[in-house]
Amino acid sequence: MNGLDSLFSGWSMEEEFQQIQEGIRASGDAAMARDALRRTEILRADVEKLFLLVQTLWSFLREQGRTEEELLRRMEEIDLADGRLDGRVRPGAPRKCPHCGRTLIRHGRPVCLYCGAEAPPESAFDH
Ligand SMILES: [Zn+2]
Repeated sequence: MNGLDSLFSGWSMEEEFQQIQEGIRASGDAAMARDALRRTEILRADVEKLFLLVQTLWSFLREQGRTEEELLRRMEEIDLADGRLDGRVRPGAPRKCPHCGRTLIRHGRPVCLYCGAEAPPESAFDH
């Protein structure tokens, strides 16, 4: 166990997903339940990959002498960048299409829905 585990304490991923899935099965709507179960499995896989990614990145930083105090201080700074200390990073203002200037709609593809221009993410953390 390492220090990062304390950042996620109080949330047992496996237990949480089991409870969600039991609730979905109990709903009685088979099609909705199948869809919701599929979505929770995708989310579970994404969360597990994120845990792995964070632990891997942290191992590099720890090897370079970074401390948990530094990590937590930086997390707080980034958390506060949107004006709220709430453990979340809210997306910034909607971006404009670089070609037609209309507001880009987040729909998973880096293409303007109005003119079809490419609108690549401005940073690796755009979502
Ligand atoms: Zn456009």
